[in-house]
Amino acid sequence: MAVEDYRGRGSPKASGKGAGPKEGARSIFVVQEHLASRHHWDLRLEIGGVLRSWAMPKEPPLAPGIRRLAIQTNDHPLEYADFEGNIPEGEYGAGRVKRWDGGTYEFESVHDNKYVCIMKGDRLKGAYVLLRFRPGKEKGMWLFFRRK
Ligand code: MN
Repeated sequence: MAVEDYRGRGSPKASGKGAGPKEGARSIFVVQEHLASRHHWDLRLEIGGVLRSWAMPKEPPLAPGIRRLAIQTNDHPLEYADFEGNIPEGEYGAGRVKRWDGGTYEFESVHDNKYVCIMKGDRLKGAYVLLRFRPGKEKGMWLFFRRK
C-alpha cells in the first residue's frame, strides 16, 4: 500500500496553530469510514484547534490485542468532524464518508512518539495508544491499538 494514496496532497488543510497535544485536555474525536478507491477509516483527534488525522486501512480495533496501521494525513479543520456525505468523482478522496464513531477523549500521556488517549466514544471506549514506529525514518507511520 502506498502511503501517498492516503496522504491527500489536495485535501483540506487547516491553518496550523502550532499548539501541541496537552495532557488532560478534553477534546473531540471522530472516526469517519471512507469508501474511497481504497476503503479506510479516518481517525481525527482535535489537537491545538485542528483535527490531526490518521488513515487506517482496516477497521479500528474494539478489543486489545489488535494493532492497526495508522498513516498520518493532513490536518483538517474542526468543522470537518461533522462531515458526512459524498465526495464527488474527480475530487481527492472521491467516495462516501460515513461517521463510524465520535465523542470526546483526553490524553492520559503525551510524548513525541506515543500518545495515550482515553476515548469516550460510542464504539471506542477506554485507553488507546498511538505509537509512532521507526521514529525519524517513516515520519507518518503509527500504530493504533487498545491498551490491555
Ligand atoms: Mn479519507
